[in-house]
Amino acid sequence: MARVAVVTGGTRGIGKAIAVALKKAGYKVAANYGSDDGAAEQFQNETGIAVFKFNVGDFQSCQDGIARIEAELGPVEVLVNNAGITRDTTMHRMSFEQWNAVIQTNLSSCFNMSKAVIEGMRERRFGRIVNIGSINGQAGQYGQVNYAAAKSGIHGFTKALAQEGAARGVTVNAVAPGYVDTDMVRAVPADVLEKIVARIPVGRLGKAEDIARTVLFLVADDADFITGSTLSVNGGQHMY
Ligand code: NDP
Repeated sequence: MARVAVVTGGTRGIGKAIAVALKKAGYKVAANYGSDDGAAEQFQNETGIAVFKFNVGDFQSCQDGIARIEAELGPVEVLVNNAGITRDTTMHRMSFEQWNAVIQTNLSSCFNMSKAVIEGMRERRFGRIVNIGSINGQAGQYGQVNYAAAKSGIHGFTKALAQEGAARGVTVNAVAPGYVDTDMVRAVPADVLEKIVARIPVGRLGKAEDIARTVLFLVADDADFITGSTLSVNGGQHMY
């Protein structure tokens, strides 16, 4: 039977590529999104993948969202915590709202979503959780204390939950992308982006598919000895 996989923020960018790759590999996929109904509808028409709108930063919404997904598709065996936002500015300009939005959406979401599926995974003695971190959580970044804190939090969350799940067949890993060509990075001013690309040894931005193939590798049934690891996919920009 096809395994059920949930991808948060699965209707655009990196999440979309992950959802599509999982479907191609035979998984039954649910793609979550937060607010952009137009993009979600287009995604659903294009891919035939079911979409589920709920806010991953809200605990109860995740409980309800997973209940809806499980009623429609079956028990969740693969969870990809991908949804994320940026609210970039320097610390002295950053408001509490900018800090909090990023922490809730990027980090608390990992707790909210994992909490909603972990018991079932433990009972069935199989689970795959992949959290999307970031090069900027590994190395820090000017203007991103909120984002870097959330992403480096993800790396710690991954290692701790991996230890808890190991004896129960639940693996937990992180992928740390470098700069990937999505809406998030297209929002960066062109001159800044040019300087960023100049620092990437392979000489290009990442493609969403570069991240998707890494996730596919980590969620495979026979990847059961890989847990608590962070795979950097960044064109050699930062080796950690
Ligand atoms: P995009 O901005 O292209 O897409 C973000 C996705 O997350 C959208 O589907 C969006 O939904 C969803 N989302 C945002 N907030 C919420 C929420 N509160 N609840 C549910 N869904 C939400 O981002 P990317 O594809 O670029 O990034 C994906 C992940 O990869 C993020 O975690 C990001 O931090 C990380 N990353 C990205 C890098 C890059 O260079 N692009 C580099 C390193 C890490 P909606 O369409 O409704 O807005």
